[in-house]
Amino acid sequence: MVEVSAELIRGKLLAARIREQVSTAIATRSVTPVLVNVVVGEEEASASYLGAIDRLAGKLGIDSRRVTLPGNADQESICEAVQTTGKDPGVHGVMVQFPLPRGVNATAVADCVPPAKDVDGISRASLGSVLAAERRHVAPATAAAVCEILASDERLSPEGRHVVVVGRSLVVGRPLAAMLAAPQPGCQATVTLCHTRTADLDEHTRRADIVVIAVGRPGMLRADQIGAGAIVVDVGTNPVERDGKWTLAGDADPAVASVAGFLTPVPGGVGPVTNAVLMRHVTAAALPGYLPEAW
Ligand code: NAP
Repeated sequence: MVEVSAELIRGKLLAARIREQVSTAIATRSVTPVLVNVVVGEEEASASYLGAIDRLAGKLGIDSRRVTLPGNADQESICEAVQTTGKDPGVHGVMVQFPLPRGVNATAVADCVPPAKDVDGISRASLGSVLAAERRHVAPATAAAVCEILASDERLSPEGRHVVVVGRSLVVGRPLAAMLAAPQPGCQATVTLCHTRTADLDEHTRRADIVVIAVGRPGMLRADQIGAGAIVVDVGTNPVERDGKWTLAGDADPAVASVAGFLTPVPGGVGPVTNAVLMRHVTAAALPGYLPEAW
């Protein structure tokens, strides 16, 4: 058994607060926010994620729908489905489930989502708004969730601290690095962005006040790679089999909990906050004027 000395950052509690705000905002207006997920092919992993999104949306008063295309759909038909969905005035938020079939240009598809309905912040318009720290459009939900977690307790504040983000995907690592370094209260961190071509990753992570690990490799971040008392935000959600059952494992090794000062658990850390933030984005797209001071 690993000794857990880190304080666990309970994403579930923060997610519950966000959900409460969202359901209150919806209940006080006579609009039902509508979210449509465009899905290409039937895949078990995305089906279970979408089922969770549908259930959460339903609890909050959001109508979560699906447009499903065959697994062999080409770029043109995917773009057309996303554009048609985006033009529907009865739809407030549009999401596209990734990964898309091989050969489909994901960026081109993401750009078919109208920026005002881009609730997962995947289009270049949304990412540009993140880079400019304008908050004109919403940020990718996972990156926004990490910022929300760090803003939820002053002991976790990134301001003036050295944050090492491991993983540079367009939906997590890169926007998050820009958001954390933004010249705004609650951000203002010194950020190092690491990836597979980083020379001596350990040297960076050991010097970090805060490590955000988002690589999709279960247990990759070892206890000896972080400094004592560091804050570790584990974005990884990796399906793994344990004792014959499927569960989720993070990108941090469980032993990290014996060295870190704070740690987001998996499951129950970043994941629920991401889903709650997504619901907030859908609500903001449906209710003009409802945009809390957040990414
Ligand atoms: P991704 O697109 O596969 O990107 C992974 C990144 O990790 C890449 O930038 C890659 O570097 C880097 N990487 C991989 N192995 C590495 C290593 N050994 N050393 C340093 N960097 C390494 O993944 P993603 O979409 O960002 O997702 C990352 C993880 O977060 C996954 O587990 C995913 O399931 C999870 N996730 C969770 C949520 C949530 O709500 N909790 C939401 C989204 C994603 P290169 O660029 O050099 O290849």
